[in-house]
Amino acid sequence: MSIQHLIRPSIKSLKPYASARDEFKGNKEHLTFLDANENPFENGINRYPDPQQKELKAVISKLKNIPVEQILLGNGSDEVLDLLIRMFCEPNIDNILILPPTYGMYEVLANINAVEVLKINLSESAFQPQNTAVLNTASANSKILFLCSPNNPTGNSFEADRVEFLLKNFKGIVVIDEAYIDFSNEESWLSRLKEFPNLVVVQTLSKAYGMAGIRLGMCFASEAIIATLNKIKPPYNINELTQISAIEQLQKADLVQSQIMSLINERELLVRSLDQVAFIKKIYPSNTNFVMIKVDDASKRYQQLIENGIVIRNRTTQPLCENCLRLTIGTTEENMKLIETLKQL
Ligand SMILES: *Cc1c(COP(=O)(O)O)cnc(C)c1O
Repeated sequence: MSIQHLIRPSIKSLKPYASARDEFKGNKEHLTFLDANENPFENGINRYPDPQQKELKAVISKLKNIPVEQILLGNGSDEVLDLLIRMFCEPNIDNILILPPTYGMYEVLANINAVEVLKINLSESAFQPQNTAVLNTASANSKILFLCSPNNPTGNSFEADRVEFLLKNFKGIVVIDEAYIDFSNEESWLSRLKEFPNLVVVQTLSKAYGMAGIRLGMCFASEAIIATLNKIKPPYNINELTQISAIEQLQKADLVQSQIMSLINERELLVRSLDQVAFIKKIYPSNTNFVMIKVDDASKRYQQLIENGIVIRNRTTQPLCENCLRLTIGTTEENMKLIETLKQL
């Protein structure tokens, strides 16, 4: 399956902006740079950043075992998701498919781009994609199916054979948002990229890696898809400070692994304590660094926690999430404070 026919015609024929640093391909050492109207006085950030993020991508390539030609970096995964919509979806003509309850940005980004959103709820009890309904809803103008696995806000992963069926039978691009994959006991879809030309995997440094502040999202896909995304991304979308600190932080793989282990451990401890709170009706299984719970009255409990200085996320207005709250796993102290407060309400 070639994906070329799925790309918007205007983008296929687009000649990208060539930045000063794109055009110059030689060895950059010992050169006098008078090409980009920068301030010449060195302060560590007076130069434009590398538009191709070569050094950072080399680190990520090694970490994920994916060639650099199959990696695009974004100003958070939110920028990656926006670029994907703009690459494939013609405004006022094409549509995307999302499976609520899920991450809210897919719909917002589609709305900004005047792209219609078709919604097919996840199954009621297990929050799994309803494949037949998904395929029946899809039209010839359905360009992207967004799958969030593990899913936010429910916390569960989608069954691999359901996802595989969609990859094989949906006639558009399947974006799998793996923002929480590092907390999951399921394997990443990165290892399956070669098999599916329509597969795009999106990950982020914002969650397990502890770098939400620097805004770095990662997109992994076929060379063809990445080449086109590179044409439409803003030339300097990853700033110098982000590139420097990501390279630095990604050296600390052991620290990140131990933090993930301790957060998963904390999650299990929290789940056990939540079980003892009478007004908590249901605790949903989680493959992430948060837990969704169903309570007697979500808005009331949310407000009570705020009054006690604890901010959580109220998801009660989401489909299938009536009276549901989403709790992020914090430090041991923070989780203990949450539990103590819940028990006293
Ligand atoms: C948090 C989150 C993201 C992260 O977005 P960034 O822009 O990389 O911070 C993406 N997808 C989902 C499902 C999330 O929950």
